[in-house]
Amino acid sequence: MTGKGKVAVIGGGIMGSGIAQIAAAAGHSTCLRDLEPSALDTAKAAVEKSLARLVKAGKMTEAESAATLVRLCFTSSVSEAVDGADVIIEAVPEQLDLKHRVVAEVLEHAVPGALLGTNTSQLSITAIAAPLGAAAEHMVGMHFFNPPVMMRLVELVRGLATTDTTLDRAHDFATGLGKQVVVCQKDSPGFLTSRVSAILRLECLRMLEEGLASAQDIDTAVKLAFNHPMGPLELGDFNGLDTYLHAVDGLAAAHGERFRPTVGLRNMVSAGRLGRKSGRGFYSYGADGARVEP
Ligand code: NAD
Repeated sequence: MTGKGKVAVIGGGIMGSGIAQIAAAAGHSTCLRDLEPSALDTAKAAVEKSLARLVKAGKMTEAESAATLVRLCFTSSVSEAVDGADVIIEAVPEQLDLKHRVVAEVLEHAVPGALLGTNTSQLSITAIAAPLGAAAEHMVGMHFFNPPVMMRLVELVRGLATTDTTLDRAHDFATGLGKQVVVCQKDSPGFLTSRVSAILRLECLRMLEEGLASAQDIDTAVKLAFNHPMGPLELGDFNGLDTYLHAVDGLAAAHGERFRPTVGLRNMVSAGRLGRKSGRGFYSYGADGARVEP
């Protein structure tokens, strides 16, 4: 027994596995649910690798790492994952119909009053909560950043039905994971962080397309002038330019002209220059994903 409440994480991909790891490390008995046995194997291997790295870096002891693994369960059963959980976080792919199915399924097995978090990057919290009926008051946007183990921020987002009590519980939970919390008080596309990063990257794209400077110099300017660890263009390559185009199209629909994607970005995506995953974006990449210097 840990004395802390049980956590269920639904979706064991990049984000879900990291969220489950930090919940277990913070002392919660934690169940990670994925549909795919292979995804569960990959998630378990990712957690073990990450814990080993933390031990090697002196950020965790061997005993803490072992205890974290003991507190973790990996399952394909939603009822096993959700049974008795005080906090349930969904981290399935960013598709509204899928998230609807997942929250409805979770609700069937959840204890009444369980805190329901969604890790959506930009879907509406209110829309995701639609199938929940009265339980929508327990749902809150709980936006972790990649990788969840390292990134210090959790952005909470209030849906239309989210109560103050739910926000307070989510705040306490995220703080208990060692995270710094900010609250976006309205369910608005892009919340706080995605709007800022989208607009910064768009301005970099516009400068590139105006021929003001090379991609390398624009990234270096942002990194060194503002102390960003990565430039906005290299980060775009890292996350995928198709994903970015999809995001800014959505933000433009919600907030207007200032998020309108550039012609250059559309052309790059049409040409399959999607960044690191396709070998070419603003920069070029080898088969191992490493950047090839010009
Ligand atoms: P991912 O594709 O890596 O993982 C999603 C996992 O969900 C997969 O393993 C898939 O098998 C599983 N899944 C699909 N349907 C399921 C179901 N019904 N039940 C249980 N598992 C199911 O995705 P990700 O990058 O971890 O993103 C998850 C969420 O987090 C998305 O909403 C995304 O927008 C958000 N997010 C992603 C990042 C990022 O950088 N990747 C950052 C912040 C937020």
